[in-house]
Amino acid sequence: MFIDHEYIERILEEAKGAKGEDIKAVLEKAKRRDGLSYEDIAVLLQAEDKEDLNEIFKLAGEIKDSIYGKRIVIFAPLYVSDYCVNNCVYCGYKRTNEFNRRRLTMEEVAEEVKILEKMGHKRLALELGEDPVNAPIDYVLECLKTIYSTQSDNGEIRRVNVNIAATTVENYKLLKEAKIGTYILFQETYHKPTYELMHPKSLKGDYNYHTTAFDRAMEAGIDDVGGGVLFGLSDPKFEVLGLMMHNKHLEEKYGVGFHTISMPRLKPAAGVTLQEFPHLVDDEMFKKLVAIIRIAVPFTGIIMSTRETSEMRRELIKYGVSQLSAGSSTGVGGYKEREEGRETLQFKTSDDRTPLEVIKSVLDDGYIPSYCTACYRRGRTGERFMKLAKSGEIQNVCEPNAMTTLLEFAIDYGDKEILEKAEAVVKTERERIKRKDIRDILDKNIERLRAGERDLYL
Ligand code: SF4
Ligand code: SF4
Repeated sequence: MFIDHEYIERILEEAKGAKGEDIKAVLEKAKRRDGLSYEDIAVLLQAEDKEDLNEIFKLAGEIKDSIYGKRIVIFAPLYVSDYCVNNCVYCGYKRTNEFNRRRLTMEEVAEEVKILEKMGHKRLALELGEDPVNAPIDYVLECLKTIYSTQSDNGEIRRVNVNIAATTVENYKLLKEAKIGTYILFQETYHKPTYELMHPKSLKGDYNYHTTAFDRAMEAGIDDVGGGVLFGLSDPKFEVLGLMMHNKHLEEKYGVGFHTISMPRLKPAAGVTLQEFPHLVDDEMFKKLVAIIRIAVPFTGIIMSTRETSEMRRELIKYGVSQLSAGSSTGVGGYKEREEGRETLQFKTSDDRTPLEVIKSVLDDGYIPSYCTACYRRGRTGERFMKLAKSGEIQNVCEPNAMTTLLEFAIDYGDKEILEKAEAVVKTERERIKRKDIRDILDKNIERLRAGERDLYL
């Protein structure tokens, strides 16, 4: 197994002796974009001193800006089934929780999609529990077909990322054929003894099968995969190094590491109280983890869900978060239920702002909210995507696409205030684009957008 527990534990132990000068030396190395070793990351994780932490935050922000510019990608989750045969200790959907489980019919999926489209969303994350009988792969494929084919007015979903349980190469091939964006699977915890404790007597309980899921996905031809850890289950420093080892394994074996990393923190849910978990991550530690991951894997997107408060999300954008969910419901059929004033959730969300409110706040903080889905549709995935990101050229497409999709959002779904803010951002940011050919394409796209065309990107 490529997650070497003994090695991680040893370097974490050794790093405990790290002094201020060791942390500074690692930061200098990171500034030169030299690439950090596991030992370097372990040293950074020891930082406690305010000055060192500020340096870490500053560098993380600079790295994010230098690669992706000011764009923050916006998406929403869509929960379609809460049937689950697993019994994950930390989850409200666990099989021992008794409640009326259901899966959406295709009509209901289409209804949810229409609501999401009216909110302006173009990019979804499809979520469901594991149940080979009640929600088999055919059901997932049907959902994908329904989502992609449900359009209302100018609304359409252009990219669906899929978060389903670890499965076989054959099933991953089917997902690839169904044109998924990123295949997302949370490891939950890399620490094997904790993993086994958290997943008693269940399909998901096989650590090796779960941890090698991306290998099978890559073998099936899916080249964008997104990892993640549920912070709070085990020592967070161990988890960060686990993520890094997993990333390196994928890079070495398949030429490309994580496309994204999701960073959820444990939250209370039905039948789950936080007191039973000894490794909860406080706000200060969480900020440090986000910033260090940004420094360690500069080209990987970092996803933050509405589990975090609006204040925390605003702060974390500065330290490297590059994708935010907005207006999320974490219940099956939750968007319709919300419209009707009744909503049941997989876990408690903390940022209940509408997408419009999120967009305004991202704009006010100086970033460009983006509904872009271009790379996947232009075939810029896997190694091809990483090459563009590593050369710094991704900014040439990210920022113009962010401006075009923001303006599209503002015209179709915004209010007067959003439209004015979007117009102002486009005006200033356009000037900052150095390449004339890119500016020209942007101008043309905006002109076509105003004339009524949609879905314009480069
Ligand atoms: Fe099921 Fe996923 Fe919840 Fe585990 S985390 S109980 S697999 S829905
Ligand atoms: Fe993402 Fe590519 Fe669009 Fe940039 S251009 S926001 S990397 S899809």
